[in-house]
Amino acid sequence: MPFTDVLKRVATLPAGSAILYVLLSPEVEGIPQDEDTALAALHASASAPIFSYSDAYLGKGIVGGPLISSDEQGRETVSVAVRLLSGEHASDIRMPPIALGKPEFDWRELRRWNIRESDLPPGSMILFREPSAWERYRWQIVTITVVLVLEAALIVTLLHERRRRRIAEMNAHQGMAELAHMNRRATVGELSASIAHELNQPLSAILHNSEAAQSMLLTASPDLSELTDIMSDIERDDRRAGEVIRRLRSLLSKTPSETHEVDLNGVVREVFEFVAPQAAAYQVTLSTSLALRPLVVSGDWVQLQQVILNLVMNGMEAVRNAASGQRKITGRTMLIDGASAEVAIEDSGPGIPPDKAQQIFEPFFTTKDTGMGMGLSIARTIVASHRGRIWAANRREGGALLRFTVPLAKTERDAVQPAANQTDSAVGGSRVSGGFDNAQFDTASRDLAFGRVGN
Ligand code: ADP
Repeated sequence: MPFTDVLKRVATLPAGSAILYVLLSPEVEGIPQDEDTALAALHASASAPIFSYSDAYLGKGIVGGPLISSDEQGRETVSVAVRLLSGEHASDIRMPPIALGKPEFDWRELRRWNIRESDLPPGSMILFREPSAWERYRWQIVTITVVLVLEAALIVTLLHERRRRRIAEMNAHQGMAELAHMNRRATVGELSASIAHELNQPLSAILHNSEAAQSMLLTASPDLSELTDIMSDIERDDRRAGEVIRRLRSLLSKTPSETHEVDLNGVVREVFEFVAPQAAAYQVTLSTSLALRPLVVSGDWVQLQQVILNLVMNGMEAVRNAASGQRKITGRTMLIDGASAEVAIEDSGPGIPPDKAQQIFEPFFTTKDTGMGMGLSIARTIVASHRGRIWAANRREGGALLRFTVPLAKTERDAVQPAANQTDSAVGGSRVSGGFDNAQFDTASRDLAFGRVGN
């Protein structure tokens, strides 16, 4: 059969066929001279597995099986040739048949023909096995898996940490709010006697005025214009009492912090009004020197009020032992570089020992017998949450100076920027008298835009 026909035939064998490859006669038409090429062509066209008898064909297209070793065949042939050459007669040479070796199979052919390894005779050897991806890239796979696992673990840990941090932050925030509230209550407690006194004044005035009005109404012809004056006095006193209560309420409120546009001038004014009765009781002169323009920052009114209140209350404590007439507390506000607002509370007390300038902001640091040491620490936390900073200095002429800055609200910055120089020159070059002790603290004196001094 011409080789081309053989190829056609092997391509269309019925199911369940097998091809036994033994010999190809070189005389047949179309047979390639090179046997490997012929086998390769058969293999390419075959529709059934090819089997053979010699291991010389294993790996070249046959499935395998018990095979004759071509090595052994070669060795035996050579030994016969040597015996012939050494003079032995061919008829004397008897060779036993070469036995079939252990079954060997080509892994690729088993796969091609879907032959299960478990169906092979026991003791079969499988050659040409292609290593699996795992066998080939074991280290790369292990390394990548380890990296992925570590990365996943890291992500999980970071997420967990972030959650813990958020909870801790929330707790800290909550704790801080509680503490700040307690601090306000304590301050109000300290001020309670003078607040009661301040409330008492308008209330007694209201009582006296209403008694006077009643007696006037009993007369035959009451003086109506006098009565009108009395009524407006009652109204004024009522408003005054109402205002004291409103301030108290706002300080004692426990509402969560709210961000609004807050004019620091207004906050300073309110705190100074609030502590005025106490100052009067201790013979402390309060004065304010506020920037001419409103210093609008974005923040929480009650919290900023608390900062200023804490500083003023510390000032009151500090001036307590000064000679009467020498007890002074001044609150100043100013615009800094057209970008932030500064509040400075200065007093005529003994000042802060230079080595304690940083420590005083630490929680629980106090030099007072009944102090909690939380006032300045709370003030620092509040200022920091308003993106500002707070620091202490001593005045050259004696007394402490506590200052904090808060960035202006964006709308205010935009409004101030173009007009900043104008505002400064308009208010013009007044210098803070006294200046600061630059040798001890990093507070440079600067030209400040002050408005009226003293209230
Ligand atoms: P407390 O008032 O309960 O002691 P603070 O945190 O308000 O707590 O203040 C801490 C310390 O800082 C005070 O004990 C005091 O030694 C010092 N200090 C604060 N303000 C002044 C001031 N104006 N003058 C002198 N020392 C001050």
